[in-house]
Amino acid sequence: MTETFTPSTRFAVPGRIAVSNRAAAVWQTATLTEIRSETPHASTFRFAVPAWAGHLPGQHLMLRLTAEDGYAAQRHYSIASAPDDAGHIELTLDHVEGGEVSGWFHTIAKPGDEVQVRGPLSGFFAWPGDRPALLIGAGSGVVPLMSMVRHHRARGLSLPLRLLVSARSPEELIYAREFDAETTPVFTRSASEGVPVGRMAAAHVAPLLAERPTGGWEAYVCGSNAFAEHASRLLVEAGQPVDRIRIERFG
Ligand SMILES: Cc1cc2nc3c(=O)[nH]c(=O)nc-3n(C[C@H](O)[C@H](O)[C@H](O)COP(=O)(O)OP(=O)(O)OC[C@H]3O[C@@H](n4cnc5c(N)ncnc54)[C@H](O)[C@@H]3O)c2cc1C
Repeated sequence: MTETFTPSTRFAVPGRIAVSNRAAAVWQTATLTEIRSETPHASTFRFAVPAWAGHLPGQHLMLRLTAEDGYAAQRHYSIASAPDDAGHIELTLDHVEGGEVSGWFHTIAKPGDEVQVRGPLSGFFAWPGDRPALLIGAGSGVVPLMSMVRHHRARGLSLPLRLLVSARSPEELIYAREFDAETTPVFTRSASEGVPVGRMAAAHVAPLLAERPTGGWEAYVCGSNAFAEHASRLLVEAGQPVDRIRIERFG
């Protein structure tokens, strides 16, 4: 049985962190402090949020932009940073063609700008660092998974963690500079010479499942609707129990 995460739980083992859920109901001001380019279409936006109550790797927040005439737009964004970044959070946004909110961030936003955030949200897709984690993402679906990778590193956890990530090309691979031995990239459109190109397949998933860590993998899948369907089917066909697959869809 999958244990459902309860936000109020107090954890005792290293790597586990506790988060109050009361703060999720309150809008807070987040001040943009830094913008880092990740790929030609994705950038990371760092914010100071002094009263941020913390989050678990994998959680997301609600972000609100308000225009001078009062018009407001709200969107969900996964939190990219690890929890141990007191008073700061980082988001990584794809620039969606014609997108209202992502367009504003990619073309207008500058350090010093203020937005509103509310969170953290969704305990189900959270990984507190308590069990082996098999992470599978595509495109910006890697964002919440990167928070897990960063948490794993920041806490020096010895639990197995693997990341299988799909991108169109090496240039489109978000966080490429940060990946290490835990990560296997899959390129769907182009890659450097000698690197295979193609869709994520059973051959990518099977060797990871064959590692069979003690207690088994908790699988986290994130991406578009189509990718989430595809990746979870691969997992089930490779023997991963359905009730140990957690899915976040950006579609
Ligand atoms: C739980 C959750 C977490 C998310 N985390 C992230 C994240 O970490 N990083 C991130 O970049 N996005 C993330 N998203 C997607 C994000 O919420 C927005 O949908 C996205 O930024 C587009 O918003 P927009 O205002 O720019 O575009 P809109 O103005 O809403 O849409 C413009 C056009 O683009 C299409 N469109 C909308 N969203 C997408 C999309 N995701 N892909 C392709 N076309 C789209 C619309 O149909 C429309 O035609 C997440 C979504 C969810 C539900």
